[in-house]
Amino acid sequence: MKIKEILKIRKQGISFEFFPPKTEAGKKALQNTITALKKYNPLYVSMTYGAGGATQEKTKEAVDMLLAETELEVMPHLTCIGAQPEAIKSILADYKEKGIENIMALRGDPPIGVEKFDFSAQDFSYAVDLVKNIKQAGHFGVGVAVYPEGHIESPSLEKDIEYTKYKIDAGADFAVTQMFFDNTYYYELLDRMKSRAIDIPVLPGILPLLDVSKVRQFADICRATIPSHIEERMEALRNNPEEMEKVGIDFTIKQCRDLIKNGIKQLHFFTLNKPAVIQTIVEAIF
Ligand code: FAD
Repeated sequence: MKIKEILKIRKQGISFEFFPPKTEAGKKALQNTITALKKYNPLYVSMTYGAGGATQEKTKEAVDMLLAETELEVMPHLTCIGAQPEAIKSILADYKEKGIENIMALRGDPPIGVEKFDFSAQDFSYAVDLVKNIKQAGHFGVGVAVYPEGHIESPSLEKDIEYTKYKIDAGADFAVTQMFFDNTYYYELLDRMKSRAIDIPVLPGILPLLDVSKVRQFADICRATIPSHIEERMEALRNNPEEMEKVGIDFTIKQCRDLIKNGIKQLHFFTLNKPAVIQTIVEAIF
C-alpha cells in the first residue's frame, strides 16, 4: 500500500528506519531488531541506502530480509550518488516485482573524503531529479527528506523551502525530517511549509539521544542543534555511560510526548538497529 494512504488511514503510529548490516553479527542484530519491533505494528519500515559508505547491494539484501520476515510495508531508500538511469530502472523493476510500493528518494551525501564533490556532473544532481524519474516509472509512492533547521548546504531557510517545494511539485507524497532535538524547529518547518501551500504529511525523524559526543559530531554535519541544557547534563555523565544513556532516553521520551501533545501522532524513529532503546521509548509514549 502507498504510505500516503497508510498515513491517511492510521492517524497515530510509528515508523522505523534501519540500516543495512555489513557483517554476520550486524545481520543478527538487524534480525533481532525486526523481531523485537514488528509487534508495534509500524506504519511502515525503511532501509537506508549507501549512507555512511554502506554498499547498495547490502540495502537490497536487507530489504529482502525485511520482506521475508514481516508483512510490513517496506520502503527502500535510493540516492542520486553514482546512480545511472539504467541502474535505477533495473532497481525499480526489481523492487516492483517484489511488491514494493514506496521509495525514499534522496540525493545522498558526498563520498567520504571527497572534497567539493561535483553533484552537477551526476546523472541525477538533486533528489528532485530522482523523484521525477521514479514518478515517471508510475508505480511508486515517494518520500523525501526535509530539514527543520535547513539543509547544511542551504544558504537560507527561504532557499531551503524553495528547493523542498521543487521535490513536492515533482510528486513527493510525504516527507521525513532530519533529526532535531528542539521541537520548535519542527513546528517552524511546518509553518514554513504551510506558508508555501505545501500540504503533505511530514513525519518527525526521532534520533534517540544516547552518547552525546557521538550525536554531537553527527548533528554538526547535519545541522541539528542539541539544546545546551541537555548536552551539558549528559557531558557531565561522560564517565557514567549508563546514566548518560538513561538521561538521553528520558529526554527523547519528553521530546516525543511534546510532539504528541501538539497533535503530531505519527513519528519516525531512526532505530540505529538498537531495539531495546526504541522499545523503552515507544512503551513510554503511547
Ligand atoms: P536535495 O533535496 O537534493 O538537497 C540537497 C541540497 O541541494 C540542499 O541544500 C538543497 O537546498 C539544495 N538544492 C536542492 N535542489 C536544488 C537546486 N535545484 N538548485 C540548487 N540547490 C538545490 N543519505 C544516504 O546516503 N542514504 C540514505 O538512506 C539516507 N537517508 C536519509 C533519511 C532521512 C530521513 C534524511 C533526513 C536524510 C537521509 N540521508 C540519506 C541524507 C541525505 O542524503 C543528505 O541529507 C543529503 O545531503 C541531502 O539529501 P536530499 O535528498 O535532502 O537532497
